[in-house]
Amino acid sequence: MRAAVPRRVAIVGAGPSGLYAAKALLDGADRHDIAITIDIFDRLDVPFGLLRFGVAPDHLAYTRVEETLAATLADDRVTFHPGRQLGHDLDREALRENHDAVIYAVGAPLETRLTAPGADARGCEAGGEIVKWYTGHPDAIDVSLAGVTEAVVVGAGNVALDLARILAAPAGHLAGTKAARLAQAELDAAAIRRVTLLVRRGPQHAAFTTPEFRELAKLDDVALVLHGVSRAELAAIAADAAETKADRRIRNNLKAIAELTVDAAPAAARCVVDLRFFARPVEVKVEAGAVSGVVVERTEFCDGKLVGTGELTDVPAQLVLAAIGYRGIAIPGLPFDPGSATLPTVEGRLLAEPGGAVCVGEYAVGWSKYGATGIIGTAKSDSTATAARVIEDLIGSA
Ligand code: NAP
Repeated sequence: MRAAVPRRVAIVGAGPSGLYAAKALLDGADRHDIAITIDIFDRLDVPFGLLRFGVAPDHLAYTRVEETLAATLADDRVTFHPGRQLGHDLDREALRENHDAVIYAVGAPLETRLTAPGADARGCEAGGEIVKWYTGHPDAIDVSLAGVTEAVVVGAGNVALDLARILAAPAGHLAGTKAARLAQAELDAAAIRRVTLLVRRGPQHAAFTTPEFRELAKLDDVALVLHGVSRAELAAIAADAAETKADRRIRNNLKAIAELTVDAAPAAARCVVDLRFFARPVEVKVEAGAVSGVVVERTEFCDGKLVGTGELTDVPAQLVLAAIGYRGIAIPGLPFDPGSATLPTVEGRLLAEPGGAVCVGEYAVGWSKYGATGIIGTAKSDSTATAARVIEDLIGSA
């Protein structure tokens, strides 16, 4: 039998972190015999957040995650409220008044943009805009790949790899996936011959995860060409990483880079992916208002600080994408830590200000709490841990 007093929880954000929190709350309520109802709000009309509008559509394994989270949404104790945005038509005070606990799972929606001269030209976009386009996000911009034979992607995170893979893939790669049909048609008709990944530091600093890098190398007729470090330097970096017991992800990345890259593309390659380490964009070149290339400067470490060497190379490109991370934004009426661009918390409990008092009954999970980092499993464990704190507090306040 459930406890007599029903507990009502609000979750703002129906992305993976919000939905994992809902799932953990339902499980916790079952274990502790708490009668719970959960209201989940999202600014979009459809749930799943980055799971639907962030994860690349060819990552089919995530379909199973969506199925699990769809089952949570379908639980009769859960009500989904689409089209409701915190700070606009959803008010913090009203949420607190009507619920015993409120969990903010609002993500980190602000994409970091390139600041190099020329970066505001047509054809230079935040990578996330292209992600929205091929995943069919309602706010997506129109993208034309007509005339694009060479693309540059700045960054070495998983978003950069997703973009490079989608652009370099053969026609039909997204067939049978949930990718937006218009984007599929545009990508199928595209004739992209070269994708250059600009990585401002070395291979040991790449932010991507190894399985994602291996996937890029699996594409048919694509050559992954190594630039910026020699084979001998790569071997020395890998030896150092092994000796210093560097993070396993880094050691695996180094192994994969050594195994899967070549020094020159075979003539038969349909598309070449140039992996340029120690390379940063210093100017986006513009002709007739549109992007025509990137001036790339070689970088190096000097007294532990990354500096430009002044050695410049022109990389032609008709499309330049910055995949250099995301940040949270302040929401009117909610505490915000401008340094980390997150909601300030302790163990998931919201604080009135960084280091300040706990806002009783309010919590944060996911990117809005720890920043735009980590894979989906990170969100799952974080949301599960925070949901446990919510259950503890609900029991404590009964
Ligand atoms: P990220 O992992 O933080 O990577 C950002 C990259 O941009 C880093 O390589 C960073 O280099 C570089 N960068 C930052 N500022 C730069 C600048 N001004 N100029 C040049 N390079 C710059 O960000 P993300 O790729 O957007 O991914 C966000 C999170 O989502 C990550 O945790 C990622 O793993 C996750 N994600 C996961 C998947 C998946 O699991 N398949 C797919 C997509 C995203 P430095 O290291 O030198 O700063």
